[in-house]
Amino acid sequence: MADERSDLERMLDDLFPYRRFMQTQRVIPDEGVDRDAVLTDIASMAKTEDAVGDSGRVSGSLYSGDHAHYHFLAQVFEHFAHANVLQRDMYPSATKFEGEIIAMAADLFRDPQPIGVVTSGGSDSLVHALYSYREEAREVRGVRMPNVVLPVTAHVALRKGAHWLGIEVRDAPITADFVADVDAMADLIDDDTICLVGSAGDYAHGLIDPIDRIGVLAQERGIGLHVDGCLGGFLLPWAEELGYDVPSWDFRVPGVTTLSADTHKYGYALKGTSVLLYRDAALRARQYFASTEWPGGLYLSPGLAGSRSGGLIASTWAAMVTMGREGYLERARAILATNDSIKSGIRESMPELRVIGDPLFMTSFMSAPEADIDVYLVNDALKERGWRMNSLQLPPALHFCVTGPNTQSGVAEDFLTDLRTAVDYAVAHRGQPAKSGAMYGFGAMPDGDQTLRMVMGGVLDAMHSTAPEA
Ligand SMILES: *Cc1c(COP(=O)(O)O)cnc(C)c1O
Repeated sequence: MADERSDLERMLDDLFPYRRFMQTQRVIPDEGVDRDAVLTDIASMAKTEDAVGDSGRVSGSLYSGDHAHYHFLAQVFEHFAHANVLQRDMYPSATKFEGEIIAMAADLFRDPQPIGVVTSGGSDSLVHALYSYREEAREVRGVRMPNVVLPVTAHVALRKGAHWLGIEVRDAPITADFVADVDAMADLIDDDTICLVGSAGDYAHGLIDPIDRIGVLAQERGIGLHVDGCLGGFLLPWAEELGYDVPSWDFRVPGVTTLSADTHKYGYALKGTSVLLYRDAALRARQYFASTEWPGGLYLSPGLAGSRSGGLIASTWAAMVTMGREGYLERARAILATNDSIKSGIRESMPELRVIGDPLFMTSFMSAPEADIDVYLVNDALKERGWRMNSLQLPPALHFCVTGPNTQSGVAEDFLTDLRTAVDYAVAHRGQPAKSGAMYGFGAMPDGDQTLRMVMGGVLDAMHSTAPEA
């Protein structure tokens, strides 16, 4: 049957796939909807949406993929879902869970003392770290025009945080090996630099910056160093234990003063938690807020969040203690082995592609210089076969971040087979515009950045609207 929908309608159906067969709620219903009916709809949406990730064809995002584990976490969550972590007199369990999450993470990342906070995610951890450094620099050194020096590959949430906090971002280029150029970082530091940043590993390529050398630089200049281990943090210690070559990146590097690692990635907790660790308590106290003059009472809060659900803290704690070192090691072993297969498969049998660096838990690849293929065309063909990669830019590349669901048997082999076909497709269609990387091309237009931001703003508006009538 021919698809008679207009382009706009097709786009709306992609964004709001349920609008044609489920009620679109525009006002609170007069009479409450029956719980069973809600549960039926919820279950049907979840089933459809989970099928995508469970297939093992999605890069990143899911991390565990073990539904028995998720079910257990949801059971734990249920006990404290309604509890407010702020009310410690009522919920001393929250004090126990949070303190122990921090202690376990500090032990794993060799923080000399268990000093940290549990946040709502990686971005939250990064923004709080920036805030603490800014406050410290302002009060101790009188810095009024703060800047942060980071490699251009450092996570974009730092850029967002700096934007919100009035901190200038000084981007250092990366080396030919795609890691931070420490000499270039040194050149960007001045008296107003509040801290340096390095990644372990970076979101785009999964590579670990030379944290040792950045640490020495930070100490020489008397400033702090934040290591963004949001992605790799909960995987790298196990890789090291399994004998992989993992460059130093944690608190064993003397110059490291803060470190973030996401429990909701390779920590296998539910979405909505991360840890931010500090080497010393005085810097952590910079993110505290206390007010004594408010009619609402004395107010004390460790960070931006007010009320938080006890369910997330309890289930994160439960994820860590039930996984155990053994569980983490076993999952890491499978993830690292799957990535090894993908990485070596590309290196050995796809001369048209170049693997970027030697990442442990993801494989990021671009066109080999002499092959001159459009990797977004490769992505088009992979999409056709059900693969969901992450598209990168500057330079154009794709990455496959390996997680639990990708370790199912046959996934790496199927991926390599389909990637071979996808590369052939890109070679055959050289010069034609790619469908994926929809943003691709805009950057080269006059005022490209501005146009792009406008389009991106429109996408956010659409995502935060209600489904139009079908
Ligand atoms: C995912 C990620 C973040 C941000 O994490 P969110 O939890 O999505 O806010 C920060 N840094 C790196 C390297 C990441 O991969």
